[in-house]
Amino acid sequence: MPSFEEARGIILAHVAPLGEENVPLSDALGRVVSRDIIAPWDLPQYDNSAMDGYAVHAADCTSVPTRLMITGFLPAGGEECPAVTVGCAVRIMTGAPIPPGCNAVVPIEETEQAGDQVVINQKVLPKQHVRIKGSDVASGTQVLLAGSQVRPAEIGMLAAMGQALVPVYRKARVAILSTGDELIELGESPRSGKVINSNALSLAAAVREAGAEPVLLGIARDNLESHSDKMQEGLCCDALITSAGVSAGDRDLVREVAASLGAEEQFWKIGMKPGGPTAFSVWQGKPIFSLPGNPVSTMVTFELLVKPALLKMMGHKRVLPPFVKGILAEDAHKKPGKLHFIRVTVKKRHGRHVAYCAGEQHTAILSTMTRCDALAALPCDATFIPAGSEVDLALLREVDLLSEAEVGIRCCA
Ligand code: AMP
Ligand code: MG
Repeated sequence: MPSFEEARGIILAHVAPLGEENVPLSDALGRVVSRDIIAPWDLPQYDNSAMDGYAVHAADCTSVPTRLMITGFLPAGGEECPAVTVGCAVRIMTGAPIPPGCNAVVPIEETEQAGDQVVINQKVLPKQHVRIKGSDVASGTQVLLAGSQVRPAEIGMLAAMGQALVPVYRKARVAILSTGDELIELGESPRSGKVINSNALSLAAAVREAGAEPVLLGIARDNLESHSDKMQEGLCCDALITSAGVSAGDRDLVREVAASLGAEEQFWKIGMKPGGPTAFSVWQGKPIFSLPGNPVSTMVTFELLVKPALLKMMGHKRVLPPFVKGILAEDAHKKPGKLHFIRVTVKKRHGRHVAYCAGEQHTAILSTMTRCDALAALPCDATFIPAGSEVDLALLREVDLLSEAEVGIRCCA
């Protein structure tokens, strides 16, 4: 049985970035650039004014004060840019091109206007308040490296570089299949013996949050034919995630059907809890993640095992969840042999992350999942982890500062 790290390593070794596509810049947010982007021109494209003021030649302003004749007005966006002769200045607005014959800008605040003349009361240095052509980005240099994620800043830069279409890695289309005769869809009336198919919706949301596109396949019933039909449909996508039906029960058919379709199982069962019965197989290069059905197991295994794989498929360089060091606020007990991920709430106190048990830890308990801020990793061989121990925390959301009134001790099983 692989450890958690080994299982994640096996999964990541079996997935690779999908192909590339060009998308309109306005759709590129969150995507990963698949090629280096080279600047086709300088930024700024021409010397321009950084201030509202007067464009001058510094050599004309050696005495203080200096008087220059105002010979024109240059607003931003103006295309005419007549040369300025010796002893003259042009009133210029921020962003307007520096006219020939000038090499500096004097801000309005440092001048006085006297009729058709401007009086400059300060020394003027060449290039002052001038944004020099190419000083931000020089033509021909790399603006973005392949593998960079597009954030609003990258959108701005790509727009400034005239990139209406951006080469990015393809979005993964991820099929989601729930299995089980007990399942009903959201909207059907709940009744005894039936369970709402919540996994499909939490998985779809998690897939979307990872930047991929979920494809909901509905429910496979607990017979071979239904599983086979639905799983084949799912294999048209880039990846297939199934939930439930992967343990050792009589009606647990996912692995059997995956094998009958020709998928090669890479592992079944991992030394982690929750998520112990997870299976991973590959069908014609496509990953099949068979996650346990208890809702918490499904979400935790998605976060720690599936999401890194999807991120890699979509070209991301950093694919592992951000782990931080934290301090357990309470004693924890566990059985040896598996890495346990317990759901914790986290507060920042004196610069450290302090982890509190989020409540009942059984994998069927959804409410602790909504309360938790992080998953705390309790080492494989440990049986008792005393309060104050340092643990790794996989943060699931931003955490708040702890107020003194909130400090309390609860017991964590
Ligand atoms: P199984 O692996 O089929 O034995 O399912 C394990 C547990 O997870 C059972 O209690 C199921 O009712 C529950 N479960 C399975 N699939 C889902 C689902 N799609 N949504 C919510 N709970 C589920
Ligand atoms: Mg089942």
